[in-house]
Amino acid sequence: MTIVDAPVSHLQEDPFGLAQEQLRKVADIFKIDSNLIEVLQQCKKAVVVSVPVTMDSGQVQAFEGYRVTHNIARGPSKGGIRYHPGVSLSEVKALSMWMTWKCALMNIPFGGAKGGVICDPKRLSRGELQNLTRRYTTEIINDIGPEKDIPAPDVGTDASVMAWIFDTYSMNKGHSVLGVVTGKPLNVGGSLGRLEATARGAMYSIREAIRKRDLKWDGLRVAVQGFGNVGLYLAKFAHGEGSKVTAISDSQSGVYNPNGIDIEAAIAHKQETGALAGLRGTESISNEDLLLLKCDVLAPCALEQVITADNADKVNASIICEGANGPITPAADEILYDKGVLVLPDILANAGGVVVSYFEWVQGLQEYFWKEDEVNARLNDICTRAFNETWAVHESRTVNMRNAAYGLAVQRVAEATTTRGLYP
Ligand code: NAD
Repeated sequence: MTIVDAPVSHLQEDPFGLAQEQLRKVADIFKIDSNLIEVLQQCKKAVVVSVPVTMDSGQVQAFEGYRVTHNIARGPSKGGIRYHPGVSLSEVKALSMWMTWKCALMNIPFGGAKGGVICDPKRLSRGELQNLTRRYTTEIINDIGPEKDIPAPDVGTDASVMAWIFDTYSMNKGHSVLGVVTGKPLNVGGSLGRLEATARGAMYSIREAIRKRDLKWDGLRVAVQGFGNVGLYLAKFAHGEGSKVTAISDSQSGVYNPNGIDIEAAIAHKQETGALAGLRGTESISNEDLLLLKCDVLAPCALEQVITADNADKVNASIICEGANGPITPAADEILYDKGVLVLPDILANAGGVVVSYFEWVQGLQEYFWKEDEVNARLNDICTRAFNETWAVHESRTVNMRNAAYGLAVQRVAEATTTRGLYP
């Protein structure tokens, strides 16, 4: 049997430590009771599991997996599952805490959770991926459920993985349980609009932000890091609105054209060749340089901690839309605020996914499915309201958008905790 060790992390700083630091900063600004912060700065539950899988070679490999619930004061916990070689317990804990704040900011009745398995899904066969998913689901089967904790896709997982989680859970219960997971394929209880929802929500946030900055979609220069679920659709939507997407990238390569990239051609090129490199009419750009391009909107849509104290002062964007979770460190946040960069924080800018996941859960529980226009209209209402509420606090308290969003969210969770009382 081979034990798969975590590789050296892609993160410079301890993610959960940073998430706790952000919470303490907000508690200080908004004068939130320290007894409540004592509760909120820890995760309610963290499960560590071993996931042994018989590989195609016949050899058994044991992968390490996690499922963490940060808080359930406002409802069952909700959060994605990440398959990536750099997953760590600290990262999953940070992501679960951010989910609590995200759901509270959007005012949907969920707490926060996250899961992950240390693996490289690109190096697993389809059969290995399915077996890993089914064993991981079985290991956490008592911790998830439609009224308890509801997973969804994140980096390295997709609708197929969600279908296997749904099926494994349902087989064990003896009946189909639609509400156990969201981001499912449409033919097994997925919601119309879920696939594009995170990017659509980010687009709504950018739409409101450019209004505030007297900018227009037409000719807006947008640079997008990451060309997966979030980055690809965000680039596509921005292009569709008339903006010039000047740079896009994935983990292997980036491409640049100051006059704008044809995003449909980029999607086709990536499908054909497996990479963005070599896209006609573009020159290559590194992920590091993409972040420093002169543009109106920079959208980091890959992983955490890509904008740090080391490069924040060289960022040349007017607005940053955090498609990814945690791409900017707290130290970088301060530098960007001083430079006048408007940062649309992750818990606001990428919350479209969890909002439509909420719609999917509701539709699954009712076994009644909505039209796509209805999904998108309701998503627009929720995202626009959350943006305006955050903007109002940003202006009235003279704090950056992150502290405004966190302030609103943490206060909502703190109020729910107070109302419920501390058990026993
Ligand atoms: P994904 O796996 O579909 O895509 C990730 C993309 O990032 C891929 O194009 C990959 O090549 C690229 N990437 C990986 N490492 C990179 C690196 N070092 N530099 C540049 N690019 C790199 O994942 P996703 O679902 O699009 O998630 C991306 C981010 O958005 C994550 O932070 C995730 O937590 C966040 N997010 C996702 C959702 C969702 O609904 N999928 C919702 C909210 C937030």
